[in-house]
Amino acid sequence: MKKDIIIIGAGGVGRVVAFKCAAQTETFGRILLASRTKSKCDEIKDAIGDDRISTAAIDAMDTPALVKLIKDFGADLVIHVALPYQDLAIMDACLEARVHYLDTANYEPEDEAKFEYKWQWAYQDKYRDADIMALLGCGFDPGVTSIFTAYAAKHYFDEIQYLDIVDCNAGDHGHPFATNFNPEINIREVTQKGKYWENGQWVETEPHQFMKKLTYPGIGPKNSYLIYHEELESLVKNFPTIKRARFWMTFSDEYLTHLRVIQNIGMANIAPIDYEGQQIVPIQFLKAVLPDPKSLGVNYKGWTSIGCRIRGLKDGKERTLYIYNNTDHEVAYKETGTQGVSYTTGVPAMIGAKMMMTGQWMKAGVFNVEEFNPDPFMEALNNNGLPWKVEQDIDLEL
Ligand code: NDP
Repeated sequence: MKKDIIIIGAGGVGRVVAFKCAAQTETFGRILLASRTKSKCDEIKDAIGDDRISTAAIDAMDTPALVKLIKDFGADLVIHVALPYQDLAIMDACLEARVHYLDTANYEPEDEAKFEYKWQWAYQDKYRDADIMALLGCGFDPGVTSIFTAYAAKHYFDEIQYLDIVDCNAGDHGHPFATNFNPEINIREVTQKGKYWENGQWVETEPHQFMKKLTYPGIGPKNSYLIYHEELESLVKNFPTIKRARFWMTFSDEYLTHLRVIQNIGMANIAPIDYEGQQIVPIQFLKAVLPDPKSLGVNYKGWTSIGCRIRGLKDGKERTLYIYNNTDHEVAYKETGTQGVSYTTGVPAMIGAKMMMTGQWMKAGVFNVEEFNPDPFMEALNNNGLPWKVEQDIDLEL
């Protein structure tokens, strides 16, 4: 039977999820696209041109209103691609309405730039008892990177020991400074202290303290900086043989210079200030003047390349493996009207929803993506615009 879904959030990622879910006519029936600003949902609905899609205005922080929306619509699953601040409110609403839940980013309190799974993992018993499932972090990173790791563990290693997740955006959107997804969330993420896992503990670094020139397939060498990223937390828990896990992201000198200035002049601050008698949050004001990430697609050229570089043991011998996907911004734009970063996030969210709604990944409780069989997901990546490659036993500078 076809499943009815609600997508919350009508940004770049919400747009891709809506396009991709609408194309899955065998799995999904009715689709409700709901967000704070209804006109943005309507614009996406019109672009897709499918009368199974309806739209609604919702403030996802208003749990009673969301419960009513979910029940009135009769949803089987809520796909949350609004902002991480709303994770817990939406998880509460799903619990009350007893429907399944999926997101792409872990909860972050609005007044503190700190992302951890503990708040969402705390719903484990409640979700299990209600016989519903929450799938956490089902974008690209977190999401596909965690599934790449699970796939490597299943098919290539007896023991994964060293993991570097490498995220390169070699695209050019033609703006001096813009972020590829929600600017507020993005700037909070990249300006915080770095952190990596080594020998059973977290090691904290200053922001961008460690840089390496890593070579990306089809792209070449790029300055890559060690930052903290949320999938490290669940991966070291679910793969306890990992001795060291790090996350590297490319930033151009131009991007880092802008970021430094933004921080130095206080525009990245998250504490409210008084401006002419009104309370404003500097980083939210900054978001209002920066280019909207979903508008970047029209002139975006070049590739993203995200993957996992792994070293470990197989049959007592050391082996290395690199699994990655390259995505062309222009191809993503042609298909969905938005750029590659939204595309690489939205496609896995659709696939995760499909895994749940077809019963391939379905268990009561709260789970990260690497806890399920990676094989059907990996196959679906190949069939839905995110093909991946594996290179074995190469020098990975790990
Ligand atoms: P956008 O800012 O473009 O879109 C966010 C959407 O959420 C907007 O439509 C916004 O509405 C809506 N929204 C915000 N607050 C509320 C609320 N209280 N109730 C209802 N709707 C709300 O972000 P993106 O589409 O670029 O990214 C979405 C999320 O995806 C990101 O925040 C990030 O956490 C996640 N992400 C995950 C990645 C991964 O690989 N795992 C990578 C990239 C992003 P309005 O327009 O009215 O403000």
